[in-house]
Amino acid sequence: MGRGMAPRHRELTLAPRRVYVSPMTTSCIFCRIVGGEIPAEVVAREPDVVAFLDVQPLADGHVLVVPRAHVAAVEDLEPAAAAALFEAVLHLAGPVREALGAAGTTIGINNGAATGQTIPHVHVHIVPRWPDDGAGSIHTIFPRKTRRPLGEVGAAIRQLVG
Ligand code: 5GP
Ligand code: ZN
Repeated sequence: MGRGMAPRHRELTLAPRRVYVSPMTTSCIFCRIVGGEIPAEVVAREPDVVAFLDVQPLADGHVLVVPRAHVAAVEDLEPAAAAALFEAVLHLAGPVREALGAAGTTIGINNGAATGQTIPHVHVHIVPRWPDDGAGSIHTIFPRKTRRPLGEVGAAIRQLVG
């Protein structure tokens, strides 16, 4: 590769990977739920995905959707696993909302220990919402401490996306 050429592929390969893998996959509570080793209130079982109620629900009907395969962070999902996971979310969002008579759902992922992810096995939260439930939107979790101009940030991300 010439000196002036963008080392796009090499940068992607060498980029630090944000992986939060537990030392023993078998100690992963969600792997154990997927494997039927420990009980959970399962609401859907699909070939690549399992969905079950959160044991400490933020609201009635709080569902966790997880890939069967142990993957710690979203970035580490295989494309097919990511597609299956989001398809399951699509499949579940309506029934979860309707079953609880909710007006909507907040759907989110804590991705990485720094974000508050406590179980290092990718999981999508689906939480039913009502207009008067006292919870905020995802905007309310951020103090909006931005320091860099949008253009600069956009350019930095585009360079790595390729
Ligand atoms: P995180 O903070 O990692 O995004 O969310 C993990 C979620 O898993 C929490 O909401 C927590 O209540 C839930 N959770 C933790 N342990 C268990 C468990 O053993 N069974 C079930 N069903 N949910 C769990
Ligand atoms: Zn796991």
